[in-house]
Amino acid sequence: MYQIGLDIGATNTRIAIVDNGEVIRSKIIPTLSGRTIQEIVDDDAASIGALMKDASISLSEIEAIGVGVPGAVDRINGTILHAYNLQWFNVPLAQELKKKIDKPVFVENDANCAALAELAKGVFQGKRNAFLLTLSTGLGSSMILDGKLFSGRKGTGVEMGHVTIREGGITCTCGNKGCLEAYCSASALEREGRRAVIDQPYGQLYNAVKGDFKQVNAKHIMDCAKKGDAISLDIVHRFADTLGSAIASIINLMDPEIVAIGGSLSKSGEFLLASLRENVKKKVFFKNMVTANIEVSKFGSEGGAIGASLLAQYRESEDS
Ligand SMILES: [Zn+2]
Repeated sequence: MYQIGLDIGATNTRIAIVDNGEVIRSKIIPTLSGRTIQEIVDDDAASIGALMKDASISLSEIEAIGVGVPGAVDRINGTILHAYNLQWFNVPLAQELKKKIDKPVFVENDANCAALAELAKGVFQGKRNAFLLTLSTGLGSSMILDGKLFSGRKGTGVEMGHVTIREGGITCTCGNKGCLEAYCSASALEREGRRAVIDQPYGQLYNAVKGDFKQVNAKHIMDCAKKGDAISLDIVHRFADTLGSAIASIINLMDPEIVAIGGSLSKSGEFLLASLRENVKKKVFFKNMVTANIEVSKFGSEGGAIGASLLAQYRESEDS
């Protein structure tokens, strides 16, 4: 039997046919989140159908569909309670998807899905306590506590991205000011990059987008920083400084064995990690002790879809 994993992000949706954690086929389509839920689900169902056809897999061979979304979910009803980056509030996602494909549908926060993928097949295997930060459009987070996914009383934890780090700071997508996500996410990097292109019209970043600030994305900044561009390096260092404080706080709070970085920014790999490790080392409370390893997640931006595909199996194990 196969499983379908969907990771609905603010920008893109990744759809994968998975065989017990191994991706058989996958594709990425734009989410275009301003549309109605029916339009979005229609697109997702059509892409699932096309992938199944491509892999010669019939509906009878599909066990279940799992969906990861960047927000809080009611996992009993499969409803999205709120996903600010998608502007979805009380969206009956499982119900709508089931109308199109008659299979059990499980819904979970996307970062929680990514942690399940790491726990089952990635860098959290065999770990009792671990923390994952997924850096994409927003900043997702998830926690493995005593070998199990921890998601709080109602399942809306863990939202490290919305911990206030600067009183009266930049307004976040959630409406609060000074959230970590407003400083440490791909959108935050882009905002800083765009500002730099406007304020400092020279250097590699400016040249990479030919002076058009609207073209700046997080990859431009990371690539230019790797090449030694002073303006981009300054942006990345400020980013690593804030994220380093957050990771040191996580380590002080829960003493995990590992803190992993996932999401699209994890592609920067060792370049970002080296800066983060150095930063965290200076800030942790227990200075001369071995603290958590800081590593790139195994599955990176694929983790959400892979973890979503494992939801049926995980929920069953939780219930037993
Ligand atoms: Zn926030």
